[in-house]
Amino acid sequence: MKETLKIGPLSANAGEKVSGFLPIVNSELEIPVTLISGEKEGKTILICGGVHNAEYVGIQAAMELADELVPEKVIGNIIVIRLLNRSGFEHRTMSLVYEDGKNINRVFPGSASGTLADKIAFTMESEIYPYIDYFIDLHSGDGFEGLESYVYCLGNANDYVVETSRKMAEIAHVNYLVVSPSNTGGAYNYAGQLGIPSILLERGGNSTWCKSLVEEDKHDVKNMLRYLGILEGNAHRHSTVPKQVSPVIYEDAPVSGCWYPVFQPGETFKEGDVLGEIKDYFGNLLYTCRAKNGGIILYETISLCIMKDTPMVAYGVWDEEKDGKIEKDCPVCGQNEKEFEVNHEHRHSHHHVSYSHGADHDETPVSIKE
Ligand SMILES: [Zn+2]
Ligand SMILES: [Zn+2]
Repeated sequence: MKETLKIGPLSANAGEKVSGFLPIVNSELEIPVTLISGEKEGKTILICGGVHNAEYVGIQAAMELADELVPEKVIGNIIVIRLLNRSGFEHRTMSLVYEDGKNINRVFPGSASGTLADKIAFTMESEIYPYIDYFIDLHSGDGFEGLESYVYCLGNANDYVVETSRKMAEIAHVNYLVVSPSNTGGAYNYAGQLGIPSILLERGGNSTWCKSLVEEDKHDVKNMLRYLGILEGNAHRHSTVPKQVSPVIYEDAPVSGCWYPVFQPGETFKEGDVLGEIKDYFGNLLYTCRAKNGGIILYETISLCIMKDTPMVAYGVWDEEKDGKIEKDCPVCGQNEKEFEVNHEHRHSHHHVSYSHGADHDETPVSIKE
C-alpha cells in the first residue's frame, strides 16, 4: 500500500488530489497548496510559485500545473505551492514580504521565532523539505525588472545534487544556464545543501504575464517530471542545450536616481561597454555602469526609478571573441526568438510536433529513475 502524503493539516491518499491551506508557524498566514498523490510508489517533488510575489509567470504556471497534473499519471507525489509570499501578493509589493520587508530568498533556513519571512522559510524547511526528493522553483524578473529566460542549477552541494540539478536544468527550453555558487539563503540553494537536487527557472518579468510564457514554464516542468520518472511518458531533449553563462555579475545601484539602461535583456556586449547611467532629476550624470567583462544581460531594472543598494543589472559572463558568438536564430528554420515569442504554435511545431526536421529532437528517454 502506498503511503498517505501528509503536509501540515493536508493529506492525500494514493490516487487523490487535495488542495487547501498550509499554516505558516506562529502566524495568521496560510498559503495555498495542492498535493497530488500518484497511484504508484515513487519520488516526491516540490514545485513552488511565488517565493517572489510579483513574479507572475511562475505563479500562474504553478497554479495551472496543480490543476492539470492528475494522480493517474503521477508516479510518486507532487507538492505544489501555488503562491508562497501570499501577503506580498495581496498588497502588491515588489516581491518582499509585506509585514517585514524581507526577501524570502535571502532568509533560508529561516526561524520559527523571527519575523514572517523567517517563519515562511522555516515552515517550508520543517513541513515540506523532509518529504521531497527534488525541487523546482518558478521565478521571473521582479516587478521592476526585464529578464531573458534562463535556468539556475546548484554548484555548491554534493556531487549527486550538483549533477542531478544540472541535468534537470538542461531539460529547460531556455538559452542560458547559470551554476549557482550559493548554498544558503535561497529556498532552492538551501534545499541543495540538504541533499535535494533543485533548480530555479526564470521566465518573464516587469509585473506582466502571458499565456505563452506560462505554457513554456509548464512545458519545461512537465518535461523535467518525465525525466525524473514522476510523470508518465518520455522526456525529450532540445537540439540546443542551454549555454552556461556563469559566473553572473550582479551590480547594485551605488546611488538613487533615474536609470537609463543601454541594452535589452538577452543582448550581448563587450568588456568596458556602458550598460547604463544613473542621472538626477536635472539630467546630471551621477553614475555610469560599465561592463567588467563581456557578457549577456540576464535581467536588469527597467523602471525609471532606481534606488541605492538595489539590483541594477545582472549579466552572465560571456566573451564573444573567446567563447563564440551567441546564435539567437533557430538552427532549424532560421527564424529568431522574437518571432517564436509571438507565435507559440509555430515554436511548438518546430520543437515538439514536427519530426520532419529530424535533428531538432532527441526522443531517447533520458530517465534517471533509480
Ligand atoms: Zn524571484
Ligand atoms: Zn520541448
